[in-house]
Amino acid sequence: MDKSRVTTYLSLNQVAVNDLFWSPFMERVRTKVLPYQWKALNDKVPGAEPSYCIRNFKLAAELTHPELDYGVPRDIGFGGMVFQDSDLAKWIEAAAYSLAWHPDRDLEQTLDETIDIICNAQQEDGYLNTCYIINGLEKRFTNLKDHHELYCMGHFIEAAAAYYEAAGKRKLLDAMIRYVDCVDAHIGAEEEKLHGYPGHEIAEMALIRLYAITRDEKHLKLAKYFIDQRGQPPLYFEEETRRNGNAFYWQDSYIKYQYYQAGKPVREQTAAEGHAVRAAYLYSGMADAARLTGDQELLGVCKALYANITKKQMYITGAIGQSAYGEAFSYDYDLPNDTVYAETCAAIALAFFARRMASIEPRAEYTDVVEKTLFNSIISGMALDGESFFYVNPLEALPQASLKDRRMGHVKIERQKWFGCACCPPNLARIIASLGAYVHSANADAVYTHLYLGSEARFSLAGGNLKIKIETRYPWEGQVDISLVPERKTAFTYGLRIPSWCGSFSLKLNGSDAAYTLRDGYALLNREWQEGDKLRLSLDMPVNLMETNPHVRDNQGKAALMRGPLVYCLEEKDNGTELFKLHTGTPHEFKVNYEKELLEGVCVISFTGKREKDWQDDALYRSRAEKEYEDRELKFIPYYAWANRGGGEMRVWINR
Ligand SMILES: [Zn+2]
Repeated sequence: MDKSRVTTYLSLNQVAVNDLFWSPFMERVRTKVLPYQWKALNDKVPGAEPSYCIRNFKLAAELTHPELDYGVPRDIGFGGMVFQDSDLAKWIEAAAYSLAWHPDRDLEQTLDETIDIICNAQQEDGYLNTCYIINGLEKRFTNLKDHHELYCMGHFIEAAAAYYEAAGKRKLLDAMIRYVDCVDAHIGAEEEKLHGYPGHEIAEMALIRLYAITRDEKHLKLAKYFIDQRGQPPLYFEEETRRNGNAFYWQDSYIKYQYYQAGKPVREQTAAEGHAVRAAYLYSGMADAARLTGDQELLGVCKALYANITKKQMYITGAIGQSAYGEAFSYDYDLPNDTVYAETCAAIALAFFARRMASIEPRAEYTDVVEKTLFNSIISGMALDGESFFYVNPLEALPQASLKDRRMGHVKIERQKWFGCACCPPNLARIIASLGAYVHSANADAVYTHLYLGSEARFSLAGGNLKIKIETRYPWEGQVDISLVPERKTAFTYGLRIPSWCGSFSLKLNGSDAAYTLRDGYALLNREWQEGDKLRLSLDMPVNLMETNPHVRDNQGKAALMRGPLVYCLEEKDNGTELFKLHTGTPHEFKVNYEKELLEGVCVISFTGKREKDWQDDALYRSRAEKEYEDRELKFIPYYAWANRGGGEMRVWINR
């Protein structure tokens, strides 16, 4: 690992985002999603499935401290999924991020009161999971494989760290440190402990984040244990299943323990397998561990897994997890557009993994994926009004198939208000609310700008304080203006990502051609910077007709439209039904129009394509005859914005 290439992302407190595209999303999260989710967590959304989340914590607190009375009947039982606690943790994390860029005393008070309830549910020895506190503590740590205790702990560590960083308050952080002590007392390498690890990963990266705050070696050690114990023989999950004597859902499946990425030691894994969210969370934790410890072998594993995902198993939208069976990866080049799973959380998890890889080594192949997921398969998960959500993000939707074909029963054509398994909405909230921390990273003598968000960042380099201001209409236009304002003349390397979708670009420094070198997709300027230095990056942003590697059977003979980082799609609303009859023809000219009133403001692409004509008779088959086409004006909207004008057909890949 080239240590001089390792950088750290600027924190949310250092970057103020003011961006044409993203600020409305962030504001939507702050003003609509967070309040809406708070209502959902409190079971106050009419017509939505109850979450039971807050109720579980209040009940657990009452059971722990009988003198407390939150008005929850003590015999009511635990509600929701075994991992219900994590929804509250994700909400707290997202709310904390929003406080970092928008102070809000009422929200902070709600957080403090909620954290009081959470801490009141904590056991004497630090244990904190409402499912077991309510259902019986004697069973805790007996089903690490499927009962998500360590997953919920991981999410709460993330929440606690976020709130500590945003508001400087450590009550939840201290509670989590105690919970980790409790887990550490029961699970680990020592003879008398359980030699287990999380069934659903996230604790790995969460513990490393905790270690960054506490510098307590115990936290790093536990994270490394979870990573390296995974899949070691004798297989812990197999022993656990035997002890419990229960049926194991994946026992007879081809996925088996690889559903949990535990079929073999992680250092022997070369292809992404199993549940996609779990997998990418694990890889994120592995990347964190490799970065922190300089573990070259582990980094090599991360690189191989990253290459397998992004070169063989990732949709053009950045979505991952092709198979509804197991919400999982399937096999190389299997990328069906209609039966796809593509969970919103999985795209978020991939963004986490890619962002971490980019901090080890600034390479556009990593940051391109962060950008691709963010602009496409992540935000497609949320309606533009912030009140309904997709769990599954298809690249092709057909209303009657969703209704009547079991293979596509999971594919919805309209976003849902809330789900019983509500993992995606709060996950969306936490990534969008923390976008400021994706823009720049730096080390002592280099600064890299990864994403072009209108923003102002202030931070310190070895040579003194530095301010970087970005102004842009990205992704609708490719011009990015950057002002660098160092406190005093300072020499450092400044790197700007040149996105892979961009065929040609120009870079001007103070009005003249800038002298730069290109390395791994970053334009590097190594010079002495001074106040008043201005860069103008102009990225050509043509409409690109994209093809897929011929190994991918589902996209044979098809093309997709991209402009900049955005993938486009056809919707029934603009193009009528039976979108599968449409062809690109040979487009001579793409018209790109910014429509301010449409879908909160989007660039629309249109051109004259073809539509196959219907036959004169009602035959189902006929012998070979010339196909007949008519010209048809095709109108494409950005993929993320589909299904915001009612349900209907949608298609990303169309016939060539
Ligand atoms: Zn999800």
